[in-house]
Amino acid sequence: MSSLAARLDDIRTRMARAAQRSGRDEVGMVAVTKTVPTAIIAEAITLGLKTFGENRVQEAWPKIEVFPAVEWHFIGRLQTNKVKDVVGRFKLIHSLDRWRLAEALQQEAQAQELQISVLIQVNLGGEGQKGGISPVELDDFLAATTDLPRLRVEGLMAIPPYTADSEEARPYFREMFRLFNNCRTSGREMKLLSMGMSNDFETAIEEGANLIRVGSLLFGR
Ligand SMILES: *Cc1c(COP(=O)(O)O)cnc(C)c1O
Repeated sequence: MSSLAARLDDIRTRMARAAQRSGRDEVGMVAVTKTVPTAIIAEAITLGLKTFGENRVQEAWPKIEVFPAVEWHFIGRLQTNKVKDVVGRFKLIHSLDRWRLAEALQQEAQAQELQISVLIQVNLGGEGQKGGISPVELDDFLAATTDLPRLRVEGLMAIPPYTADSEEARPYFREMFRLFNNCRTSGREMKLLSMGMSNDFETAIEEGANLIRVGSLLFGR
């Protein structure tokens, strides 16, 4: 077994156990391929991985050209002048973090006559350097997106403040799940909660994540 295969096996086992502990069923994984060369991505595809994430448009493009048949997600901060390079190429944008970006996505999707699926990035910790909608603005933001018919809001995404111990992130994940449920109970179709990375994905799943984004642990970087 290759080392990538072994790491993938280990992550899948840990995901399944965490899902079992929390009584959740389907948890998906985005394999984050920033800085990962195409040869390794090719191996990941042969191992059955189908969903890949990139946080830079420039780096993602050549990879998407080589592997157009798998699903690509955009997970990084998106400049409005890059929107035209993202719409139509990525299946899901995890990082809708401001109103101006929502409008730019709507405009480009309209021009390309496409629907575009997005997650709203929530900035729960109120960290100034991080993008995202604050929890108190979330309801209004969501309501406003109904005026953007090309956008399909599929859920929420979060990046907790970095902590060495994933237990410290648990209350953060729990609060995100509460927000997610609130959005859902107001009659909206929100199905994805994207949170959890290499160092805290089990905690995230235990608290309700159903889409995790794993890079370094999977690719050994
Ligand atoms: C890099 C990145 C990840 C993956 O992080 P790892 O710690 O390498 O698993 C997840 N989400 C975002 C937004 C990232 O930029």
